Amino acid sequence: MLSVVDIISHGLWGGVAFGRKNKRAFWWSALFGISPDLFSFGIFTVANLFERGGFGRPELSSIPGYVSSLYDLTHSLVVFATVFALAWAVFRKPFWPMLAWPLHIAVDIFTHSTEFFPTPFLWPLSIYRFDGVSWATPSIFFTNLALIAFAYAMWGIQRLRRRRAVREEISRRS
Ligand SMILES: [Zn+2]
Repeated sequence: MLSVVDIISHGLWGGVAFGRKNKRAFWWSALFGISPDLFSFGIFTVANLFERGGFGRPELSSIPGYVSSLYDLTHSLVVFATVFALAWAVFRKPFWPMLAWPLHIAVDIFTHSTEFFPTPFLWPLSIYRFDGVSWATPSIFFTNLALIAFAYAMWGIQRLRRRRAVREEISRRS
């Protein structure tokens, strides 16, 4: 169940970081924020659910090879930069919500230890992986939740202020 919290947390970070413009930007950012895990572990979790009804952190040995391969792809800044540049070329402008993807990778670099899926952020150029502290460590886990709450509170205050400024502007004009 913990990993579900991890995925939601990635989505919330993506949304608050790059999706503050409007609802559409928010959902795209949240989607890009969770996509690295969605398209690696997500696929496996769903398959696992059907096969064994398993949930939560699986044994390393029970994780099939394709999950690691997908994990390399979706957790690489090199792959991200390539896709981002391609999308930029196709749409003739950058799609900013995509930046939630490298944010996910950055968070993972520091919150995964080499024990369980360290982040292959330089794949395929280098197999270097940073030995971080697992996000499931209580101090990291609760700090993360507190930071998310803080970020959303700041965003809420910002929006209230902006709305009030607009209202004052309207009443001043009329
Ligand atoms: Zn991840």
